[in-house]
Amino acid sequence: MTSTAEKTQTLTHWLNNAPAEGQSGRSAPVYNPATGQVQAQVPLASRAEVDAVVQVATAAARRWRSSSLSTRSAVMFRFRELLSARRDDLARIITREHGKVHSDALGEIARGLENVEYACGIPNLLRGGYSEGVSTGVDVYSIQQPLGVVAGITPFNFPAMVPLWMLANALACGNAFILKPSEKDPSAALFLAELLKEAGLPDGVLSVVHGDKEAVDALLEHPGIAAVSFVGSTPIAQYIYEKGTSHGKRVQALGGAKNHMLVLPDADIGMAADAAVSAAYGSAGERCMAISVLVAVGDAGDKLISAIEERISALKIGPGDVAGNEMGPLITREHRDRVAGYVASAQEQGARVVVDGREAQFEGDGFFLGVSLLDDVKPGMNAYDDEIFGPVLCVVRAGSYAEGLKLINDNEYGNGTAIFTRDGGAARQFQFDVEVGMVGINVPIPVPVAYYSFGGWKASLFGDTHMYGPEGVKFFTRSKVVTSRWPDPAGSRVDLGFPQTR
Ligand code: NAD
Repeated sequence: MTSTAEKTQTLTHWLNNAPAEGQSGRSAPVYNPATGQVQAQVPLASRAEVDAVVQVATAAARRWRSSSLSTRSAVMFRFRELLSARRDDLARIITREHGKVHSDALGEIARGLENVEYACGIPNLLRGGYSEGVSTGVDVYSIQQPLGVVAGITPFNFPAMVPLWMLANALACGNAFILKPSEKDPSAALFLAELLKEAGLPDGVLSVVHGDKEAVDALLEHPGIAAVSFVGSTPIAQYIYEKGTSHGKRVQALGGAKNHMLVLPDADIGMAADAAVSAAYGSAGERCMAISVLVAVGDAGDKLISAIEERISALKIGPGDVAGNEMGPLITREHRDRVAGYVASAQEQGARVVVDGREAQFEGDGFFLGVSLLDDVKPGMNAYDDEIFGPVLCVVRAGSYAEGLKLINDNEYGNGTAIFTRDGGAARQFQFDVEVGMVGINVPIPVPVAYYSFGGWKASLFGDTHMYGPEGVKFFTRSKVVTSRWPDPAGSRVDLGFPQTR
């Protein structure tokens, strides 16, 4: 019989367009969440290994920034075609390590692809401005230049999409990019690196370095890295922002969320219930834009609860690679137990457990949990106050629009929110009033398309620029303004005064 250790694959870093074995002697297990078995070991880079990666990236960045816009755009077009053609393979990798169902993995790839398509237009995106004749014989123009070596640190829940949010624009803008993916599902990042090599990205321009806090700290402190883009939980986002900026880097750090969906009494209850179930339980609730709180105004509550209960009974939960399943397991055993703990604490603290996911039975050792629906949840209960990041939907009852709005605005997070109503005036007022970065009107997961930008408010984002789209291009470049003059027949003269336009 083969032992687990013999069957376990050893993963590598990615350096100079080739796999690079880990040197630190440290590694972490990568599970298949559907079986609960360890399927690979991922190396955890040491500070010295991170330094070696930055050296390679620094040399590559110098060459890459000199490549023409059309060269960079051509690489992105080829990458787009390869990614599109191989999306099924990538989705299988995601399902094997993350657990989400195949169709959901394809969905995350599609949203990632949008960002590559956006970056294909880099010649247009980097156009500067030109003012002819600001003074006699003097012209002024602005140019956008890459930063040099930039790093991305990404979470487990979107192992392909979030890296693509960052790397498409970072590379197209002419930077060398170092990706530190989640150690829980690191293989999607390696697959993307292989495709980029096939697309013609030169050696060293993209590196993948796996690791934990040691590698992250080495990236944050390294003087050779100009900027860090981060997506993950709020405590780590805050840490990354503070440490990175204190080391002189430009940092954008996107954090956690507690997304509320406000349902007014006039809403289409069937549509709202479909949206709530899809957005709360899709990807087992492990989405930063998942709906985790449903704020039911007036008599919408009772109708919604029964419509949601009905829909829950039809959900198919099981391994992500089995066709027809709609929800897979959670990422780890510890996380599954933590999520189940929130259902228990809500019950103890006075919430009504309408559907108890802990009662669902599953075969094998996978990290499965059924979906839960909690009613009469209130601020102060752990299930309301914390980001659960699992298949638990909390219903809070509110007497009015104003009460519901206050709940949302008082929340420490401000990533996404949605309003469900037939009243255009109420929706417009909500869009004006709400203190949240991304708003849906009868749309539960309002993740902006790639030509807008993604970002929350409050504890959901540290930094000034949102992710991808126009703000992504801005984040990965810095502007330079040139004032130019050429010798002309009128000649020049000495003038000690401050330059003025004439
Ligand atoms: P996480 O914060 O645990 O990890 C994110 C990254 O940080 C990983 O690469 C991890 O290796 C690294 N990391 C973890 N602990 C660290 C430490 N102590 N020091 C340095 N680095 C560390 O997040 P996660 O569990 O992988 O992802 C889920 C979280 O991400 C949720 O809170 C979710 O809301 C959030 N998220 C936010 C967005 C968004 O756009 N706002 C998108 C996706 C996920």
